[in-house]
Amino acid sequence: MYTEKELEAIARQFLSRNFQIDLHIPIKRNNRLRSSLGRYVMDREGSPLRIELSGHLLTYGKKEVVIGVLKHECIHYAFHQKGKPMEDGTYEFEQALKRYGAPSTKTLKVGKFYTFLCKKCKKEGETRLKRIRTHHQQYRTKCCHAPVILTGEKIYDGGVEERT
Ligand SMILES: [Zn+2]
Ligand SMILES: [Zn+2]
Repeated sequence: MYTEKELEAIARQFLSRNFQIDLHIPIKRNNRLRSSLGRYVMDREGSPLRIELSGHLLTYGKKEVVIGVLKHECIHYAFHQKGKPMEDGTYEFEQALKRYGAPSTKTLKVGKFYTFLCKKCKKEGETRLKRIRTHHQQYRTKCCHAPVILTGEKIYDGGVEERT
């Protein structure tokens, strides 16, 4: 698993080689980050604060996936520094992601999921909620609003793309 220091060294090299800029912010692990695998954080005035990578990503992600997400956040930082449009989905930004082999963050699935079957229609489902292991009686499936049958755990390392 990468340490914050190693991630910073990789980011620094990536930025200087491809964008001729220096890294002036720290790279931090954030175990509470669940909405995405990484994010570029600014303060209220819009000054760069840090890049965060989720604990899920660093624990379960394949090496190349971790580096891909790190590059993605670095490109946000680089575009910001250069005064370019830095939003996800803008043409130039998405082109840069492709060019440097960085994923569109939200399409990657990484982490430990608990799998279950719908008791009624036997459709498979999965959730990140740990609580389902001990309190599955309290859960109902979305498809049939029926009880769940726990079937185990599954770990995703980002190698499979999630279709959303
Ligand atoms: Zn992004
Ligand atoms: Zn069902």
